[in-house]
Amino acid sequence: RAKQKGRNTYSFFTPELQTHYVRLMRVENALRQALEHNQFELYYQPQQELHSGTVIGFEALLRWNHPDLGRVSPAEFIPIAESSGLIVPIGEWVLREATQQLRRWIDAGIAPPKMAINLSAAQFHQPNLPDMVLSILDDAALPPEYLELELTESITMDDPERAVTMINRLHGAGISLSIDDFGTGYSSLSYLKRFKISKLKIDQSFVRDITNDNDDRVIISTIITLSQSLGLRVIAEGVETQAQREFLRRLGCHDIQGYLFSRPINAADAEAFLRETVASLR
Ligand code: C2E
Ligand code: MG
Ligand code: MG
Ligand code: MG
Repeated sequence: RAKQKGRNTYSFFTPELQTHYVRLMRVENALRQALEHNQFELYYQPQQELHSGTVIGFEALLRWNHPDLGRVSPAEFIPIAESSGLIVPIGEWVLREATQQLRRWIDAGIAPPKMAINLSAAQFHQPNLPDMVLSILDDAALPPEYLELELTESITMDDPERAVTMINRLHGAGISLSIDDFGTGYSSLSYLKRFKISKLKIDQSFVRDITNDNDDRVIISTIITLSQSLGLRVIAEGVETQAQREFLRRLGCHDIQGYLFSRPINAADAEAFLRETVASLR
């Protein structure tokens, strides 16, 4: 680090920084070709209602497999897709792919009731977003009720008045909205009340230590109470253990998502999962 080299000595381009930028450039360049070379795939993670055990929906999660770079984590490539603007066409591909998959599952009689899709800020701020989404739904002959768009707190709170307008347009078109990673950002309660959203997703960082950390328990309990008073559903992310599940159930959480119920799985495995679920209901 520059500081350790002594007072008033700053080297801005350290070897670590250089390695970081080389990787960044490499990933960004590779990302530019990823769509046309068909390197993306959607994984699906089922969400479960706690009291009934039924599947209430899937969240679509993007995966990228590059011939040289291998599997690149969304935690690395999504921020690069966002800063480069590539997230707009990539996000459109995600919507198209997920809705067409859902259409095939509807035709097979095994569809989950909802498909949740993550939206980035740049997508949310496209004035034609509702038209684009509606035309993609139309191409898949899918009623808008099947779709849930996940927004983070920062996307909505950056410019909450603009968010109210966009959320109203999407909600008016019959699309549901949820707030992802809830509790990690700053939400204004008065805006939360004005947003026509249907669900809060409790961030997995609060779930992780729920069995040991009383502060996390209090935070989760507060989010659940808040969602109840706002008439929202609440789902906990990152549920990995039976003990976490039991805590959440006792705190009144409606739904869970996490490795305990299922990891994100590819379309073939998701289809097998749905067939088993449907069979178990017969
Ligand atoms: P997210 O939307 O909060 O998605 C949940 C993340 O938690 C996923 O990571 C999922 O694989 C992971 N997860 C699920 N259950 C568990 C669990 O029990 N334990 C642990 N430790 N992790 C669990 P993933 O797939 O790596 O995605 C990371 C983030 O990348 C997502 O967070 C989302 O913000 C973003 N992302 C993924 N796909 C898309 C996409 O299609 N569009 C956009 N804009 N963002 C996406
Ligand atoms: Mg999400
Ligand atoms: Mg999340
Ligand atoms: Mg996240």
